[in-house]
Amino acid sequence: MSNNDRIVMQDLSEGKESFPIRVINNYNNDLPGFAYTTGNEFTEFVNDELRKENGGKLPEEKGCDCEFNEITQTWCGEDCKCESRSRINFDPKNRIVEDPWNNDFYEDFYIECGLHCNCRGKCNRRILAGTSAFKKGKCNRRILPGTSALKKLHLEYFPDKGYGVIVDQPVSTGMPICEYRGLVSIQEKDILNPSHYQEDLLIDNKGLHFIIDAAEIGNVSRFINHSCAANLIQICVYSSIPSLRKIPPMPRVALVARRDIRPGTELTFDYGLEYFNDRNLRCRCYELCCFNPADDWALKTKSLPETQKEIICNKRFIEKHFNETKDVQPDVIELGSDDDDI
Ligand SMILES: [Zn+2]
Ligand SMILES: [Zn+2]
Ligand SMILES: [Zn+2]
Repeated sequence: MSNNDRIVMQDLSEGKESFPIRVINNYNNDLPGFAYTTGNEFTEFVNDELRKENGGKLPEEKGCDCEFNEITQTWCGEDCKCESRSRINFDPKNRIVEDPWNNDFYEDFYIECGLHCNCRGKCNRRILAGTSAFKKGKCNRRILPGTSALKKLHLEYFPDKGYGVIVDQPVSTGMPICEYRGLVSIQEKDILNPSHYQEDLLIDNKGLHFIIDAAEIGNVSRFINHSCAANLIQICVYSSIPSLRKIPPMPRVALVARRDIRPGTELTFDYGLEYFNDRNLRCRCYELCCFNPADDWALKTKSLPETQKEIICNKRFIEKHFNETKDVQPDVIELGSDDDDI
């Protein structure tokens, strides 16, 4: 952001997030029009399906039965059911490690502890924060408690692609950035207008496609653009132990950094090839690895050395500024309790 930037909104979330999200538009008077939400909403069809599968009631959340370990003074350890069923790995600094062989983000899920667990959420094994249990704990699996899982961001208008999301703080690999929120709908039942704001959530055991539609209601994530070399990945987060591909309590989608990101960088995730096929669109990421390049790709794409240099520079920058990645919001981010080496 520079002094000459034209701020058209002081806070996109209107006070609903822990940081104001400024909106910059130096080109026209287009304002983002939608309702900002702090949690997913469900359509009637989604609620019906959930009840059908669970004898007329909404699914109950089933958690772990961990006991407090007096020796380590922690709640949920290796044997925790939520922990052992989670398919996400963490590095020694408790950052999420992306599995390079996994292309299916439904498989790559994380189960958070909550009030329904024996730890009552005190272990803080959480990626996304919610309204339930959130207390300071001693478990290493704490990543992002708080009232909203969100880093410092702003919105900026680009003449070629509309609004995009820029991060205003250093972010290290594996850090959750925000949650993709909107109206959870069923593609086969809810009549959805095709929009650019639909994120796949789950295919259930009957083949129904659950999606998050952020056209009317959503949060800052709905403005994150696509890139074939995206800096974020989607991770499915359950609040309870799911049975795979059967309708569990609805998961949520966390957007997590898959590489080090400098302040001032546009955030992107991969919309998938289908998105472009369904809409007959060409990609405008102009990355070297673009799978669906626009006609002017050759004119605009970066060279391999440029791309490599950028990745190395970012990595060095974050190594140097690693403390800022957690210190920007000390109340919200705590990367584990025994990390003396950070
Ligand atoms: Zn547990
Ligand atoms: Zn726990
Ligand atoms: Zn592309």
